[in-house]
Amino acid sequence: MGRRKKMVERVKTLMRNPENVRNIGIVAHIDHGKTTLSDNLLAGAGMISTELAGKQLFMDSDEEEQARGITIDSSNVSMVHEYDNEEYLINLIDTPGHVDFGGDVTRAMRAVDGAVVVIDAVEGTMPQTETVLRQALKEHVKPVLFINKVDRLINELQVDSQEMQIRLGKLIDHVNKLIKGMNEEKYKAGWKVDAAAGTVAFGSALYNWAISVPMMKKTSVSFNDVYEYCKEGDMKTLAEKCPLHEAVNDMVIRYLPSPIDAQEDRVSAIWHGDVSSEIGQAMKKADADAPLSFMVTDISMDPHAGEVATGRIFSGSLSRGMETYISGIAQKNRIQQVGVFMGPERIEVENIPAGNIAAVTGLKDAIVGSTVTTLEGMTPFETIRHASEPVVTVA
Ligand code: GDP
Repeated sequence: MGRRKKMVERVKTLMRNPENVRNIGIVAHIDHGKTTLSDNLLAGAGMISTELAGKQLFMDSDEEEQARGITIDSSNVSMVHEYDNEEYLINLIDTPGHVDFGGDVTRAMRAVDGAVVVIDAVEGTMPQTETVLRQALKEHVKPVLFINKVDRLINELQVDSQEMQIRLGKLIDHVNKLIKGMNEEKYKAGWKVDAAAGTVAFGSALYNWAISVPMMKKTSVSFNDVYEYCKEGDMKTLAEKCPLHEAVNDMVIRYLPSPIDAQEDRVSAIWHGDVSSEIGQAMKKADADAPLSFMVTDISMDPHAGEVATGRIFSGSLSRGMETYISGIAQKNRIQQVGVFMGPERIEVENIPAGNIAAVTGLKDAIVGSTVTTLEGMTPFETIRHASEPVVTVA
């Protein structure tokens, strides 16, 4: 079996085991390194070549996608990562960093259960960091922190090792103040980010390295070692010893919830129907053998397939040929193609179970925010509201 075919089989197997799925977004203020980080994670997972990573091909460039002649949905990618001798499927949804895209960030948040909050070690938290963090907490999306551009602290600001630790500590404290102010209940329930507990990583997406406390234990690279490598400009050794994708993906798998754990908590926050009903319980358990509930979070145009609706399956399974109801629409829509992501490509499958991100065609009446279901009369999902603005999308 060829390498690509094997990868397709791995993705198909993993999506049937929601315990081993993580649906995440990377959120950041513009220029803090979201694109560089995303590309590196994909390259690290073997989904794109290392030479391409860092050139911002996959999350940014339409021309490149066309030149390669394959179907790439630039906003969604998936990767397989091994943690503790087990494989996991990480679905990464792109979230625009610019403040004007507030609505898009909001939509992406509905599809994910966890967020990697990226901040520039020199600039610290910025207004957009606050907006995206607030949105995450509102949607019951759990954050972990990645402090990026640590190389700048050393090479530009020329801080010493102690000063570096103090600065990083202050950044973490500040993020926690924000979390506490935005959602004290979650903060107390363990959503505080904590370097010692493993929910903070720091590094340099540009130079492909990152470290966290668990990663220090795993690699025996100490904080001072990191400082010394950086100061000497030996980023290559650091990247070999502490690869960025390993530190970040390990953190995602270990500390961000699976769809099973997340949906138990999130359903009552994003759906105001009766949670004790059959469909309510099915969504809480991410039950794949129940009526379908799928929320559309993005609609894009594919040159070959036409309109593609991407979203999150909360219960049931999406299958080719399925007849579905769409909230607010009288006639039924029939699902045509059903796809999951492998790296940046969309691959067609027969069906996709609850807990996953799916991309489908055939939903001609769906808009962003639509609830798609096989249960007639199902209460639709909550209208997605942007944290600092009134309604952006009507379900
Ligand atoms: P985005 O707007 O959040 O997607 O940010 P980008 O990934 O496009 O990065 C913005 C700029 O910061 C680019 O010029 C990157 O090369 C640079 N950059 C990203 N990560 C790092 C890093 O770890 N260190 C340094 N020095 N620059 C970085």
